[in-house]
Amino acid sequence: MSEHIVIVGNGMASLRLVEELLKRAMPNALRITVIGEEAEPAYNRVLLSSRLAGEVEADGISLRSHGWYAARGVTLITGTKVTAIDRTISAVALSSGESIGYDRLVLATGSDPVRLPLPGADIDRVVTFRDTKDVERMEALPAGSRTIVIGGGLLGIEAAWGLKRRGMKVTLIHVLDRLMERQLDVNGARQLEKAILGNDIEVILQATSKRVESVGEASILHLNQNMKSGETNLQLPFDLLVMAVGIRPRTELARAAGLDVNRGIIVSPTLATSDPLIFAIGECSESAGVVPGLVEPAYQQAEALSRTLCGDPATYEPKPVATNLKVSGVPVFSCGRFETEAGDEVICLTDPDLGIYRKLLVSDGRLAGCVLVGDTADGLFYLDLLTSARALDRFRADLAFGRAWCEAA
Ligand SMILES: Cc1cc2nc3c(=O)[nH]c(=O)nc-3n(C[C@H](O)[C@H](O)[C@H](O)COP(=O)(O)OP(=O)(O)OC[C@H]3O[C@@H](n4cnc5c(N)ncnc54)[C@H](O)[C@@H]3O)c2cc1C
Repeated sequence: MSEHIVIVGNGMASLRLVEELLKRAMPNALRITVIGEEAEPAYNRVLLSSRLAGEVEADGISLRSHGWYAARGVTLITGTKVTAIDRTISAVALSSGESIGYDRLVLATGSDPVRLPLPGADIDRVVTFRDTKDVERMEALPAGSRTIVIGGGLLGIEAAWGLKRRGMKVTLIHVLDRLMERQLDVNGARQLEKAILGNDIEVILQATSKRVESVGEASILHLNQNMKSGETNLQLPFDLLVMAVGIRPRTELARAAGLDVNRGIIVSPTLATSDPLIFAIGECSESAGVVPGLVEPAYQQAEALSRTLCGDPATYEPKPVATNLKVSGVPVFSCGRFETEAGDEVICLTDPDLGIYRKLLVSDGRLAGCVLVGDTADGLFYLDLLTSARALDRFRADLAFGRAWCEAA
C-alpha cells in the first residue's frame, strides 16, 4: 500500500519538495497530492521583480506545467483552497467541498503580504507585491502613470525599479531614515539611495502614511514627514499605490487545527509540527525561532523533509543567508551582521564616484558579515567565508579586495 502525502500550497517550497520526493521515493511507495490556491501551477516568485521590470517574459517565470505533474503520477489541484485540517480523521477540507485523507500532511502555505490598515486604502488601485495578479495590475498601467510604493525594503525597491522601467512616475516612501535597514548600514544605505535617485525615482524617507482620500477617479495619499527640522504634511496624488511593507506567515490553517504556532508554524529539526503526522516548510514555518523569508532555506528544508518522508530521517538547521537586490545597475549584497559590535574589526572600502561601498566585519579572526554596494562580484566568496567560519589569518590583509587577492595571498 502506498503512503498518501498531501501538500498544502503549490509555491516554490512545495514544488521543490515534490521534485525531491520523486528523486528519492521507491517506485509506488508514495502517492502525492498537491493543493494550491493560486490559479496556475508553481512559478518562480523571485522573478516577479524581473518580470515587472520587463527583464523576463510572463511565461519565463513558469516552473512546471499541469502536464509535468500528471506525467509523474502527482495529483495537482489548483485554484482551490484548503479550508480546514481535521486531525481526528487525518483529512483536509477543500473550498470545493471535497475532503481528502492523508497519511502525512505538509503545510507549505507561504506568506501573505501585509497591508497597512490606512483609512480609505481598501480600494482597487492599492495593491501589494506578492503574486502574478499584483504584477498584472501593475503591467496594465499606461506609461506615465503616477505610482507610489510604500516600503523601502528589498521588495519595495524592486517594485519601484520595475515600475520606473515601465515608464511610470515613481515615488518611494519609507518610514525610517534609510533604505533596506535590515540589510544595510547607514553608509551602504546612503550609497543605494544615491543610485536610486540617479534613476529618477523620488525617495521620501521618515514618512508615515496616514490615509487615502479618493474623489471620483482621483486618489491622494496623505502622509507626514518627520524631519529634525519639524513635521511636514504631504499629499501625493496617485494612479496606483503599491504596499510592500512586509510579509506575514500563513498560519491560519495550523492555528485552527490546534498546532503550535508562534510567528510561523513551529517545527522541530525534522520539520515536524506539534503533530508528528504534519510537517511545515518554507515561509510559513518557524525553525529554531527563525522564519525563512528567502527561497534558499525553503529549498534546504524541502530536501531534508523529502529524506525523512522517504524513510531516511534528516534534519534542518537554519544557516546564514545572503540578500541580493535585483535592480540592474545597482547591485547590492548583504550577509551576516552589518552593525558593529564591541571587539569587531571593521574594514571599509569606498569609491563614491564609482558608487562602490564595501564593509566587512571581522570577529575573532573570522568574517561575521558583509555589505557590498555597487560591486557584488565577491558576494558568494564572502558568504562562503561566513558560513564555513574559516580563519582569515593568511589573507586578512587582502580581505577587502576579494577572492582573487585572497587566493593569491
Ligand atoms: C517580488 C518578490 C521578489 C522576491 N525576491 C526574492 C529573492 O530575490 N530571493 C529570495 O530568496 N526570495 C525572494 N522572494 C521570496 C521568495 O519568493 C519566497 O521566499 C518563496 O517564494 C517562499 O516559498 P513558499 O513556497 O514558502 O511560499 P509561496 O511561494 O508563497 O507559496 C505558498 C503557496 O501556498 C498557497 N496557499 C496558502 N494557503 C493555502 C491554502 N490554505 N490552500 C491552498 N493553497 C494555499 C499560496 O497561494 C501560495 O501559492 C521574493 C518574493 C517576492 C514576492
